[in-house]
Amino acid sequence: MKDLSQEIRSSNTHEALGKENKKLNAMLHCKCPVCKEGDMFKTSALNMSKFNELNKNCKECGFDFMPEPGFYQISMFFTYMVGVAIFVVFGFLTYLAFNDPPLWVYYVTIFIPTILSTPWNLRYSKVVMLYYFGDIGEGQ
Ligand SMILES: [Zn+2]
Repeated sequence: MKDLSQEIRSSNTHEALGKENKKLNAMLHCKCPVCKEGDMFKTSALNMSKFNELNKNCKECGFDFMPEPGFYQISMFFTYMVGVAIFVVFGFLTYLAFNDPPLWVYYVTIFIPTILSTPWNLRYSKVVMLYYFGDIGEGQ
């Protein structure tokens, strides 16, 4: 009896982990939060003029990527927080690696990673916003 309940518990845990992995994988690839198949964005993050443009609906299940007007305005706070985190981490690493170098070294080692990460930062802010604050239904 004990083995059976342990087996059920472990299979539920395994199932939950599998579901969580699928969700993280879909988030990583900017896929629809409902079907985890359709692309959220029109182009890749490397398309400098359109990297932040969302598809209106999921091409696989029709889920509306714009739940309400101005839904993604809050995502700018995520973008800001991640930008500050990158700034602080690279500043600290520069300080440690170069033993407190001149100011221009900080400019180079902080601003380049911050600018280069901006497309992904903006996109993942929208992804997080939709996955955690969009109305995607129970158990998704
Ligand atoms: Zn979908």
